Amino acid sequence: MKTILIIEDEQTISRVLAVYLKHEGYEVVQVFDGKEGLDLFTQHEPDLILLDVMLPEMDGWDILKEIRKVSSCPVIMLTALGDIDYRLKGLNQGADDYISKPFIGEEVVARINAVLRRSAHVLETENMKQFGSLKINMDSHVVTVSGEKIVLTPKDLSLLIFLAERPNRTFTRDVLIESVWGLDYVGSDRAVDLAVKRIRQSLAEWPASQGEIRTLRGLGYQFSVYQK
Ligand code: CA
Repeated sequence: MKTILIIEDEQTISRVLAVYLKHEGYEVVQVFDGKEGLDLFTQHEPDLILLDVMLPEMDGWDILKEIRKVSSCPVIMLTALGDIDYRLKGLNQGADDYISKPFIGEEVVARINAVLRRSAHVLETENMKQFGSLKINMDSHVVTVSGEKIVLTPKDLSLLIFLAERPNRTFTRDVLIESVWGLDYVGSDRAVDLAVKRIRQSLAEWPASQGEIRTLRGLGYQFSVYQK
């Protein structure tokens, strides 16, 4: 059964949506403020999120931004603002669709079904790299070890992906800074060491017999793979 998370502070709207979706056979989780929505998102791993823009505590755009750091879960924005700029903003920031209020229940259901069909298609064609129990989705950037989702900062994630795309090759700190942090980075190359340390901690459950981020003294780092 697919789970839909509704993040909407207007209880009446949320209730109407829940009734329609349950009738369609979806499992529904309702939350009424942004912060709680973000917490429940990590807990429930829904298949799709209906996300209101105007919310207390944390607005829909900020929630969308946070969700997109760790997940490609489909998001449909709900808003009372029929403004085309808002629609574009939503789609640019990674929303999958947009529904303006007031809406008709049947329309919401149809949009949800369409978005889920599209995302099912994406899942089939997604670009996955697997190193034993470590899996990295190169499109959605979701990292898992034995099915458990690993949450990394965007830079740490970029570094891991850069190295994992080039296994068993050694890169100096300078090259990694340039490739991951960019040419205009002004901090010290110690940032690489700290990022590697955090990534290693996050990947603690990934067995060293399968692979590791290896330090080559005086040279740099290597994403070593021992088992495909
Ligand atoms: Ca609202």
